[in-house]
Amino acid sequence: SSIFAAVEMAPRDPILGLNEAFNADTNPNKVNLGVGVYFGDDGKIPLLAAVKTAEKARLETQPARGYQPIEGIPAYNNAVQNLLFGKDSELLAAGRAITCECLGGTGALKVGADYLKRLLPEAKVYISDPSWENHRALFESAGFTVENYAYYDAATRGVNFAGMKAALAAMPAKSVVVLHACCHNPTGADLSAAQWKEVVELVKQRDLVAFIDMAYQGFADGIKPDAVALDLFAASGLQFVVSSSFSKSFSLYGERVGALTIVTAGKDESARVLSQVKRVIRTNYSNPPTHGGAVVAAVLSSPELRQQWEDELAGMRERIRAMRNSLVDKLAAAGATGFDFIKVQRGMFSYTGLTAEQVEKLRAEFGIYAVSTGRICVAALNTRNIDYVAKAIAAVLK
Ligand code: PLP
Repeated sequence: SSIFAAVEMAPRDPILGLNEAFNADTNPNKVNLGVGVYFGDDGKIPLLAAVKTAEKARLETQPARGYQPIEGIPAYNNAVQNLLFGKDSELLAAGRAITCECLGGTGALKVGADYLKRLLPEAKVYISDPSWENHRALFESAGFTVENYAYYDAATRGVNFAGMKAALAAMPAKSVVVLHACCHNPTGADLSAAQWKEVVELVKQRDLVAFIDMAYQGFADGIKPDAVALDLFAASGLQFVVSSSFSKSFSLYGERVGALTIVTAGKDESARVLSQVKRVIRTNYSNPPTHGGAVVAAVLSSPELRQQWEDELAGMRERIRAMRNSLVDKLAAAGATGFDFIKVQRGMFSYTGLTAEQVEKLRAEFGIYAVSTGRICVAALNTRNIDYVAKAIAAVLK
């Protein structure tokens, strides 16, 4: 008989499953707030002008498509480091960081997880409660036992910081703690700079390994302010790991452009660590694709294109903020008060506090799709659908 005869059907990815249901819905007013993608006011995924210019120039030169180095091209990796730490960073000058281009933020997390499993085979991984829905499975697939640390406080719609600190203080030494640098997915609740300082101190005291997931740099307050956690970890002298992504900030989702950066104690360690990470990559997919990284590197290394990109990024950030403010105001006008926290939450997502039943009602009665946890993607709201969404939310709350 077939070797696959007894294979069971794996559960559907909850969010991609939502997309399938949305696509099949015939309601002309339907709105998909389930996705994790930024849409412009026209309801489309933007192709940034800076990206278009860089792509056009690249295609005109018709570059050959030889293999890239295992870790990707230096122009890209240097640009990533400069964005994360600033180009005048002491940490970079000291050769304490190595960076490899990876397949999106997800690919960076997986290469980092595979490497850490080799380095710290006994370590446990801790993720926030709740976290991006792929974190647990990803670290488990690298062989780790994954546990939660307290993070979200449903009562305040903010961070349960006392709970988080208690959890950090109770972790065994050398545990890997996955931290969202900014724009926490799924809650939108971030730590303040003062709270980050305390986290860095606890990570140091408890001898933990921070794995910082930076998927939304520039989506909260700007490139530099959104890197406050990285600045504090850099200044601490600790070793740590960063996964970063250009999926959102460059609107390059399908090109799979991300990076893994590892901060060591010094140059010599860096060379050895890089050699080991390259082995992980070589045995997974050998080397990254050419196009996305070349485009990002071209934009970031041209002063004009970089400025244009920063302006476009600011435009995305400001549109999200405008949608947050407008949603709260329209909810209040429709009789649903108490949603001011949506203005405070950061990034693309909001934990609205809607129950699974209310989310189901939104879908069945209005064709509005959200995640059953009550997470909505604020970046999928626009001036044409926001009145409908606000009225529908107010209606399901009655
Ligand atoms: N980490 C977090 C917290 C995310 O929200 C996402 C994307 O949704 C990722 C990582 C993955 O990013 P990418 O699409 O670049 O793989």
